[in-house]
Amino acid sequence: MTPNTKYSTDPAFALTLDREDPLQRFRNSFIIPEQEDGTPQIYLCGNSLGLQPTAASDYVRQELDDWAELGVEGHFRARHPWMRYHESLAESSAAIVGAHPDEIVVMNTLTVNLHLMMVSFYRPTRERYKIIIEEKAFPSDQYAVASQAQFHGYDPADAIVEIPMDEHGRFSTEHVLETIDRHADDTALLLLGGVNYYNGQLFDVEEITRHARAASITVGIDLAHAAGNVPLKLHDWGVDFAAWCSYKYLNSGPGSTAGCFVHQRHATNASLPRFAGWWGHDKSTRFDMPDRFTPIPGAEGWQLSNPAILPMATLRASLDLFMDAGMAALRRKSELLTGYLEYLLLHGENDSWNIITPSEPEQRGCQLSLRISSGGKQLFDHLGRSGVICDWREPDVIRIAPVPLYNSFTDVHRFAELFHQYFTDHA
Ligand SMILES: *Cc1c(COP(=O)(O)O)cnc(C)c1O
Repeated sequence: MTPNTKYSTDPAFALTLDREDPLQRFRNSFIIPEQEDGTPQIYLCGNSLGLQPTAASDYVRQELDDWAELGVEGHFRARHPWMRYHESLAESSAAIVGAHPDEIVVMNTLTVNLHLMMVSFYRPTRERYKIIIEEKAFPSDQYAVASQAQFHGYDPADAIVEIPMDEHGRFSTEHVLETIDRHADDTALLLLGGVNYYNGQLFDVEEITRHARAASITVGIDLAHAAGNVPLKLHDWGVDFAAWCSYKYLNSGPGSTAGCFVHQRHATNASLPRFAGWWGHDKSTRFDMPDRFTPIPGAEGWQLSNPAILPMATLRASLDLFMDAGMAALRRKSELLTGYLEYLLLHGENDSWNIITPSEPEQRGCQLSLRISSGGKQLFDHLGRSGVICDWREPDVIRIAPVPLYNSFTDVHRFAELFHQYFTDHA
C-alpha cells in the first residue's frame, strides 16, 4: 500500500484500508470521545488538541504514587527519577524533530519559549533589526515578535516584515525567498511557522533556512503544527532555534509542557544573552548554589525552573507511542489518509468550497483547510451535531486533521459522506 494506491469511494474500501493499516492498533491506545449515543466521535481536531493516550493516567498515577511514597526523595528514587525526567523526553522529541538530544529541552509553554529564544537570538543592531514573519501568522507569534521589537525600542510597523500570502491563500517558496532578499540587509531574524496553522501549508524549511542564513539572518521555526505531524530535520537544515507546543499532534493534554530546539552550533556560545534560572545551571554544581551562572552546554542551558513532572508524564505517555510507531511509518499513513480525504472530497460537488491547503503531499501535513464560499458556519455547526469534531476559523475556513496515530480511514469516509450530504440537502 503506497500513497499512489488508487482510491475508491466505496465504503468497503475504507474498511480494507483500515484492515491493511500497519498502525491500526494505535487507535486503541487513545481514548476517543463519544457521542451521546455512545458511538465514537469523528475526531478530526488533533491539530488543536490531540486525544488522550489511554496510558496517560497510569503515567500520571505513577508519579503521584512515587510522590506519596517517597516525598522529596522522588527526585532521585522515583521509578523515573524527577531529577532526570525531562532527559528521556528530549531523546524522543529529538527523534521527532530531527535533532540531537542535547539540542532539545522540554520546558515551559510555546509562547514563553519563543520569547526566551528571541532574548538570545533576536539581537537587533542599528543596521539589522527587522523580523520577517508570514502574513496572518498565529496571533501569539505576531504579539511575541511585535513586543520583542518594542522591547528593543523599535516600532513594529517598521521592524516587522510580513511575507505576503498569494491570491490562493498560500505562501510560495519564491515569495518567501524574495521577501528575504528584499530585506536581506536590515533583517535580524526570520520566524516562520513550519506548518501554517491556517492553510496547513508545510514550508520548505530547508531551502528557506539555507537562503536566510546565507544572508546572515537568524532562523527560528514555530513547530506548533509541525511537530509530530511532518518529518523534520532541524539539525541538518541548520535552523538556529525552534519551539513547539505538545498538546496538538503530540497529545500531551491541554497546556502541557512544550519543547524547544537550539542548534548545536550555539551550545557553548557564551556571548549569547539569555534570561537565566537555576535549572539551566551546570548540573554538577547546581546544588552548591554558586553565585555565578554557568549554563549547561546545549538546549538545557535555557531552562529556568525545575520542571512540572505531572504534565511531562502525560507527554511521556504520548511520546512512547511515537517511538513505537516511528515518524516514517506515521508519515506514510498520513499521506495516504489525507490523500484519501482529499480524493473523497473532490469526488463530490465542489462549487461552493475549495481546499486552500496545497495538493502536493510534500507541501502539507495531515490537515486540509476548506474554504466555504457561503454558509460555512452553518455547515460547521451541522457537522458538529452529526458527531464530527473539527474546527472553524473565521471568516470562512473549516480545518480537518485526520491524525495517523488514531484516526481511521473509516473516520475519513464518514466525514466525507456527511460533508457531501449537507450540500445535497441544501442544494
Ligand atoms: C497553537 C499555537 C500557539 C499557542 O501558543 P501557546 O503558548 O501554547 O498558548 C502559538 N503559535 C502557533 C503557531 C500555534 O499554532
